[in-house]
Amino acid sequence: MNNKILNFKSGFVSIIGKPNLGKSTLMNTLIGQKLSIITSKAQTTRHRILGILNGKDFQIIFSDTPGIINPKYALQKSMIKESYGSIIGADVILWVIDIYEKELDQKLIEKCNKENIPLIILINKIDLLDPKINNKELKGNISDKLNVITESTNNNIKINSNCSSLEEENKEKPKRGNNIKDLIKYWNKLIPTAQIIPISALKKINIEKVVESILKLLPKHPPYYSEEMITDKPEKFFASEIIREKIFINYHQEIPYSSEVVIDNFKEEEKIIKIKALIYVERDSQKYILIGKKGLELKKIGISARLELEEFLNKKVYLELFVKVSPNWRKKTSSLSKFGYR
Ligand code: GDP
Ligand code: MG
Repeated sequence: MNNKILNFKSGFVSIIGKPNLGKSTLMNTLIGQKLSIITSKAQTTRHRILGILNGKDFQIIFSDTPGIINPKYALQKSMIKESYGSIIGADVILWVIDIYEKELDQKLIEKCNKENIPLIILINKIDLLDPKINNKELKGNISDKLNVITESTNNNIKINSNCSSLEEENKEKPKRGNNIKDLIKYWNKLIPTAQIIPISALKKINIEKVVESILKLLPKHPPYYSEEMITDKPEKFFASEIIREKIFINYHQEIPYSSEVVIDNFKEEEKIIKIKALIYVERDSQKYILIGKKGLELKKIGISARLELEEFLNKKVYLELFVKVSPNWRKKTSSLSKFGYR
């Protein structure tokens, strides 16, 4: 075996956390390409999506997961399974919180503990903090003294039980949402065995630090995937996700959550890719709203999706959209499995 293989590091890194904190944005920033769809609405991500970062002597396989929520219907149950399932077999967990977060999900901590997986806590959205107070840190200069770096093999996560209600107890309560140093101290106290990194996934602050920390924790292992691959899902999957994103962006209330996109036909020709997609909604009334007067709303979706598809697939795209009704699909396990949920 040559040296490259012997020193190669490779492993699985799960990105977990509540909805809307920036998990998908982070994965796209890490990979350097948009794989996961992002909107300002919670629960945009429904499936687990792999993003592969290939380096000279490493391969990190990230998985972006749906957010952790209390499931109310079958679709959400499937989404939660994807999130919890991604912990099993992970070599490192990136737990995304944001500058406003105060507590961590106890059930998830127990799960990480049971699996004995090292944890890195990422405080996202630090770009929203006052640059006057955080000038140095926002430029990526964070004192190592502030950080506990887990390099030991025993990575059991211990929650400091005295600190679960840190807000009330701590007389010198950190000014939350203001000062990066205080935020790190707060989380260090709460979870002394996890590494804490303040980041901005959107503005790309401290992203190299995240990669460095992961590499310290990854096992030596040959690459799991071929080095040209950046994801495990087929192009067809991303086509449906891009269309779904446009629905999330263009409609409000229940339409995005009631919609599912199925690619009925994906045919690559020499100069063009022909895609036929079916959009399923739950009721006739939703179908009319989605299509809009004279089909204008659907046309908008079609145009913006096609433009992005052309960029993603690097080829001209001919896109056809059809809207269908599948009553209550989110609550029916039969429809869910038809749509590819487990
Ligand atoms: P997810 O549900 O955890 O996957 O979150 P998304 O990645 O979909 O992001 C949710 C929202 O937060 C989007 O509007 C993002 O643009 C925004 N967002 C993500 N990361 C950052 C960040 O670092 N700073 C700011 N200001 N916004 C962010
Ligand atoms: Mg997401």
